[in-house]
Amino acid sequence: MRLPAAIRVFERGWLSCNNILLTGANDAGASAVLVDSSYIAHAAQTVALLRHALAGAPLDWLVNTHCHSDHMGGNAPVQRAFGCRTSLPAGEAALIERWDDREMLLTYADQRAERFAYDDCFADGDRLGMGGLAWEVIAAPGHDPHAVMFWCEAERILISGDALWQNGFGVIFPRLLGDAAGRDAAYAQTRATLERIAALPVHTVIPGHGAAFDDVPAALARAFKRLESFERRPAGLPRRRRPAHRYQRALFATRAASARRLAGDRPRARRRAKARRRRHRAAGRRLTAAHRLERAAGRPFPAGAPIQFSVLTAWSGSRPDAPHASAVRGRAHRWRCR
Ligand SMILES: [Zn+2]
Repeated sequence: MRLPAAIRVFERGWLSCNNILLTGANDAGASAVLVDSSYIAHAAQTVALLRHALAGAPLDWLVNTHCHSDHMGGNAPVQRAFGCRTSLPAGEAALIERWDDREMLLTYADQRAERFAYDDCFADGDRLGMGGLAWEVIAAPGHDPHAVMFWCEAERILISGDALWQNGFGVIFPRLLGDAAGRDAAYAQTRATLERIAALPVHTVIPGHGAAFDDVPAALARAFKRLESFERRPAGLPRRRRPAHRYQRALFATRAASARRLAGDRPRARRRAKARRRRHRAAGRRLTAAHRLERAAGRPFPAGAPIQFSVLTAWSGSRPDAPHASAVRGRAHRWRCR
């Protein structure tokens, strides 16, 4: 994946979103711009990463694709460290001013964020100068009704936030949508956003989570397919009630895949873990969740290490309005390896 030198993407551990740092002169007078500040638990690391990348240069501007905690949780610490101007999608402004824990999904998803102030807003059709490049703000309602994407026509790069990932898109939150009409509206918005992306000659997508990718038609096809499966069962119930552990397993696989990507491939550790599983099975015992996690991640997890994942993974990896979602969450936070 080749991106212009002005654009750097820091892929972060769960549950933080990617940080996208754009450097270089531009019309707006901002020479270093950060898109999204990650989750608050990683704030110190975010500031350190930025300090290292900027090598003494100031960070002029912080912008958010939307205001979920994994995208704006680091806003306040980043502002303190760099004194940067901060701009939000216009639709998020009222939410941030009210600091409504529920609407921001903080209470719902058992997450934290530190209250922050902002300077101004942008909206669909606005043009921003970031990293010496011109970017158009494109509204991307669906996962978040006020989310935006940033589109650079010259480089054919789309910073998509949670509107499009390589495998799907950010979960559509059922509890906030209220009734069936609210849910249908969110599905329709998601579809319109995906169609809007499909109409752009995008070459590279920098998503809010996961690596940047080139095969945009394939990602769009997967996203449409996932959306169709939601739309087909508007009651929000799976065809068959699945036990919660199926969701937990899906959730483990997603978490493990990102662990593997971040840890790099470690063949010896993988072989050791495999031998341990074989011994375990040979003793006539069933594999535990920790064994499965090791198998998927290809690396051992030390005993007692908390398995960090979020219910958001479960939802984005399965049906968003599964009735088991809250059960999964309740249990997930107590899980530890072995
Ligand atoms: Zn989000």
